[in-house]
Amino acid sequence: MTLALGCIADDYTGASDLANTLTRSGLRTVQTIGVPADDLALPEVDAVVVSLKSRSIESDLAVSRSRAAEKWLRGRGASHVLFKICSTFDSTDKGNIGPVMDALRADCGERIVLVTPAFPEVGRTVYMGNLFVGSVPLNESPLKDHPLNPMHDSNLVRVLARQSKTRIGLLDLAVLSRGGGAVRARLADLVGQGVGAAIVDAVFDSDLETIGNVALDHRLSVGASGIGLGLARALVASRKVRPNPSTAMSDAPVGGPAACLAGSCSQATLGQIANAEKTMVVLHLDPERVVAGKEEGRRALAWANERLEQGPVLIASSSTPDQVAALQARHGREAAGHAIEQTMADIAEGLVRSGVRRLVVAGGETSGAVVDRLGIPGFLVGAEIAPGVPVLRAVGGKKGQKESAEQGEMLLALKSGNFGGPEFFSDALKLMR
Ligand code: ADP
Repeated sequence: MTLALGCIADDYTGASDLANTLTRSGLRTVQTIGVPADDLALPEVDAVVVSLKSRSIESDLAVSRSRAAEKWLRGRGASHVLFKICSTFDSTDKGNIGPVMDALRADCGERIVLVTPAFPEVGRTVYMGNLFVGSVPLNESPLKDHPLNPMHDSNLVRVLARQSKTRIGLLDLAVLSRGGGAVRARLADLVGQGVGAAIVDAVFDSDLETIGNVALDHRLSVGASGIGLGLARALVASRKVRPNPSTAMSDAPVGGPAACLAGSCSQATLGQIANAEKTMVVLHLDPERVVAGKEEGRRALAWANERLEQGPVLIASSSTPDQVAALQARHGREAAGHAIEQTMADIAEGLVRSGVRRLVVAGGETSGAVVDRLGIPGFLVGAEIAPGVPVLRAVGGKKGQKESAEQGEMLLALKSGNFGGPEFFSDALKLMR
């Protein structure tokens, strides 16, 4: 297999967002959790998104993990690698965008890297190197108060220059609007001036297409899902990839019992659970008993095992905000959250052992705990259930434990709390046959 595009994402949900964008643009895409083992068997795909959790860790560690991911992707034939960052350029003067970009650029011998976090469909645009979030500059947006990386400067040429050893330049909209030839000429000028990375303006999807087209001449780019869209469209337009309908890879039915787990306490999820009561049996865990020990998880599994044959089941720990606050006051926020996540992972593991091959999980952290426990190294991205929530087909799996998952015969849907419409659980199961 030769990858048309390799991607390294600096967090899990950003990786899913990119994988979803690439799939919608016609690329068969796998999202892996961490750097895959060398012997991971993958189906024929056009793109792989390696998900790391490297946005806010020590920059040395972010660099070493990203380099390992790049090595794996290049080993699978990726001639272009996109380092996927947040569309609000989340970073500090220490990194990690600059240090990772510098290291990957050195590894692949690229002379000039195209950098843009623009993603117009979600209101992220770049003009004269300044990033706008909706109608306001980055430094006036809510990102100015981000707990980990407050963004106080909207000029990305300055922001990136502070965290990179590379000389940073600007490729502005006036040049971009003149098309690929003008962009290439400007990049050559910048290289002549010793510039090694250029912040590229983009306001419309058509700008991203121009950028994607030019970026394919290079080994490395840096940006958000927007440049992913541009690269994917350029790959399809140049016939380097034959466009694939987004559902093609996820159509083969998996069958078997289906189950849903909800660990999110968001308002949207609470409403979705209430609606699910109409179409499936629902067990509400007693959160106090979950924190007390393993017995509540075992009780839930026994309850599910008696019902799985008759139709889908839903097991929820979700409570209202005042109940959540009361539990946290008694046990501490972290201890309560961790105990519930681990119980959800125990239940997921037991359900899969009982034959469940279609699993829906509500809650970002809850999903992370479940995926890590099931040892699923990656997903093939399929049809979209709701904006940002695709059907996922597991690829690979823990040796000896999930033979079925190893053959790609397990479907998952992982949604962060606020995502999905009122009937999310039944909507998901309708697409997960
Ligand atoms: P979301 O995507 O809505 O943020 P997460 O799964 O990321 O959902 O986070 C929800 C957190 O709340 C998890 O740590 C989960 O274990 C915890 N949790 C779930 N149910 C309860 C409950 N009844 N009381 C307190 N915490 C809970």
